[in-house]
Amino acid sequence: MHGVELKSARELERMRRAGLIVWVAHRVVCHAIRPGCTTAQLNQLVERVLEAFGAEPLFLGVPGPAGPFPAVSCISVNEQLVHGIPGPRTLQDGDIVSVDIGCRFDGWCGDSAWTYPVGQIDARCQKLLEVTRRTLELALEELPRQQFWRPIARRMAQYVESQGFSVVREFSGHGIGRRMHEPPQVPNYVDRSLRLHDIRIVPGLVVAIEPMVNAGSRAVRMLPDGWTIVTADGQPCAHFEHTVARTDTGIWILTGAPQTPDEDAFVRPVLEKFVTESAD
Ligand code: MG
Ligand code: MG
Repeated sequence: MHGVELKSARELERMRRAGLIVWVAHRVVCHAIRPGCTTAQLNQLVERVLEAFGAEPLFLGVPGPAGPFPAVSCISVNEQLVHGIPGPRTLQDGDIVSVDIGCRFDGWCGDSAWTYPVGQIDARCQKLLEVTRRTLELALEELPRQQFWRPIARRMAQYVESQGFSVVREFSGHGIGRRMHEPPQVPNYVDRSLRLHDIRIVPGLVVAIEPMVNAGSRAVRMLPDGWTIVTADGQPCAHFEHTVARTDTGIWILTGAPQTPDEDAFVRPVLEKFVTESAD
């Protein structure tokens, strides 16, 4: 648990604001997704939502081998797993599109990803989305019941494999707080680091849990753009992520939907503005 910074209740309240902003951005994007829209258009919506709240995007400008990441969100289509660069690509009926959004607000970060269907998707993609989402839910259910991460990671991987899919091993979840990526690393399978130094799940621990699941083999590769990660076999993949805190009494999904009148009041003006707008 070296370097893991636990958060106070007051700090969690502040992280919740960042999480709610990310939640709003997802609702707005989800509402706008349809065959014919471009990934750049979705990215622009995310940009405007973050601007409306005065939140700082976390992905824009992240350094990479081919230069800084050029957008506020990562948008990855079909065989693209993560770190896709939004652009002129037009979404087609039957695509699946992963949108990863992170922001900092009042000094604290939120990070959440979701894979959305575009129009009518086939049964295999439908199952892939359900299984990946369920893998995240399983982890969230287990978090308050377990003292260590290892049994949760094992359960996530076993579930994915029992469904005939595979868990990507090149990427994992992470601690999050004032920075988007903090210790510990939170893998979606039992790796060497978990065998040697498991993550102790205690109140104040905040992690981004983010299963990445491939329909085919687990191998991935990077495109020549230096960012986009795709499945090696070209089969589709999915990614679901929430920022979540272990609290004294259970868990708090910081990037989850508003739960109180105060949270509702915080999100409503921006949500209504954008959802009404994109409804045409
Ligand atoms: Mg993310
Ligand atoms: Mg993340």
